Amino acid sequence: MKLAVFNWKGRAQIGRVSDDGKTVECLDMPVDSIASTGVVSLIGKPLPKVLEKVALSEVELLAPVPRPSRNIFCVGKNYHEHAKEFSASGFDSSAAKGTVPEAPIVFSKLPETVVTNGAPIRLDKSVSTAIDYEAELAVIIGKPGRNISKDDALSHVWGYTIVNDVTARDLQGHHSQWLIGKSQDSFCPMGPWAVTADEVDLSDIPVKCWINGELRQDSNTGLLIFDVPTIIAAISNGITLQAGDVIATGTPAGVGIGFKPPKYLQPGDSVRIEIGGIGTLENPVEAY
Ligand code: MG
Repeated sequence: MKLAVFNWKGRAQIGRVSDDGKTVECLDMPVDSIASTGVVSLIGKPLPKVLEKVALSEVELLAPVPRPSRNIFCVGKNYHEHAKEFSASGFDSSAAKGTVPEAPIVFSKLPETVVTNGAPIRLDKSVSTAIDYEAELAVIIGKPGRNISKDDALSHVWGYTIVNDVTARDLQGHHSQWLIGKSQDSFCPMGPWAVTADEVDLSDIPVKCWINGELRQDSNTGLLIFDVPTIIAAISNGITLQAGDVIATGTPAGVGIGFKPPKYLQPGDSVRIEIGGIGTLENPVEAY
């Protein structure tokens, strides 16, 4: 089931998106917090009744989790070809510099970085001149847990969405820790909606990204170095995962720093990410 969060009739609502992605059925959930919690409001509850069907073009989409309750967990260097291109770029300040990591590299982005499908990615040239895109499958946790085993990990997943882990490469390299370079305003486009876990086959999901129509990233989640159960087991090792936590699983090769010279984002660009079975996340790039 695809579930979208959107503004309609003056309030934030949740709705079930039709298979063709053209209409949405508004669900009877008169909850004020939807504008911040989004689909997390639904977790653990029976699906509310349908109120009305609306054309998706009529509503203003919000991110499926518009304001996560805490930082978004992210995995770095999680596809072999991307690990190589990043290590060769000169910006890799991670402890696993120059190598494929032996354990997941986990960092985070501030919750306020989240923007919706269609919202601009803002480039502040006074802060960074090396802003890059990263297409990623993101996990939305449904069942809390600590020390979750790999075997049990997928039972803690509520659903999936798409995230663009936008990154200021110069800041990522300069500060050694990645938080600042990853957490600039507008640096986490998310959407266009969430898909429940029962509809997703993690072993074979195409992940593609185009910049202005040019295909830059073209891979598959089957090529992840650390798969989703391994990531969940690693992050929950002593940290209690909570319902509504979002985990970005890493980006494949083809980011801007992988090119010589690098192809960083510029005002006027358009970033389009397509993840099989989930949808398309497209965001323009604007000067701040
Ligand atoms: Mg990333």
